[in-house]
Amino acid sequence: MNSLAISYDDVVQAHERLAGVAHRTPVMTSTTADTASGATLFFKCENLQRVGAFKLRGAYNAIAQFTPAQRAGGVITFSSGNHGQAIALAARLLGVRSVIVMPEDAPAIKLAATRGYGGEVIAYDRYREDGNEVVARLAQERGMTFIPPFDHPHVMAGQGTLAKELFEEVGELDVLIAPVGGGGLLSGCATAARALSPRCAVVGVEPVAGNDAQRSLAQGEIVRIETPKTIADAAQSRSLGRHTFPVLRELGARILTVSDAELVEAMKFFASRMKLIVEPTGCLGAAAVFNGKLDVEGKRVGVVLSGGNVDLARFASLVG
Ligand SMILES: *Cc1c(COP(=O)(O)O)cnc(C)c1O
Repeated sequence: MNSLAISYDDVVQAHERLAGVAHRTPVMTSTTADTASGATLFFKCENLQRVGAFKLRGAYNAIAQFTPAQRAGGVITFSSGNHGQAIALAARLLGVRSVIVMPEDAPAIKLAATRGYGGEVIAYDRYREDGNEVVARLAQERGMTFIPPFDHPHVMAGQGTLAKELFEEVGELDVLIAPVGGGGLLSGCATAARALSPRCAVVGVEPVAGNDAQRSLAQGEIVRIETPKTIADAAQSRSLGRHTFPVLRELGARILTVSDAELVEAMKFFASRMKLIVEPTGCLGAAAVFNGKLDVEGKRVGVVLSGGNVDLARFASLVG
């Protein structure tokens, strides 16, 4: 246990750092969803978090622990999605420079959003260069510190704070279910669950097109896949991380999969019944519950809605 990347104490400290910075997001309930599933569901609404996803928690917790030299050098990352925006905002809040490396063909709206949070966007040609190499070169040249989207203890501990909030608010649960990409979110949540609700089953859900986490836990080693084709764009990571995988294995996380069609149905439910905009990836956990992928009859179930960043035209075409 001691060799794991994070402990519950790290989550507690992260939560103190995030006080007054990250929103304590609401926990919502739905009689319709409870009746349909036979469970009591608690939706933790990180779609209503600052930057529209839980990623601010991990990003801020990581940059807040920089040494003075690291603060002076700035932070760099590689992301066209929620992590890039989270790093940009967290860095600005902490008075640190940020560089976000993105493919030059990333949606203009994402480039603009990242710049809007104060990040310097550096675009690269993804057909000619490797994003990771671009980051490594710039980090070296500019003396910046690289913070990856999931495979970092400070990021993992930060993400776990949302589960700590959930247990503090609703008490112990039978099941906690959350999306899984690279496993930063799930490993942080599992760490909080182990401490605050030891009998709670921890379940991750990934797109069926990219079930690398499921295969990794079944085989006992990290399985790498090609970038999966799915509308769950924040869960297109190609493998779990060397820090996240051991936590998920040790804490006994179980992994389920759902289809894109099931994600769309869940998006429609949240928009029409709960007045919530949840991005496709944010619906992974809920879609598993709604489609009977695990037995929740009579159980108290926490469901993480991880983000709400989907542009309106895409949202309309998906749910229309
Ligand atoms: C990053 C992200 C995920 C996946 O998180 P991991 O830590 O990579 O497992 C899920 N949902 C949303 C909205 C995200 O931004």
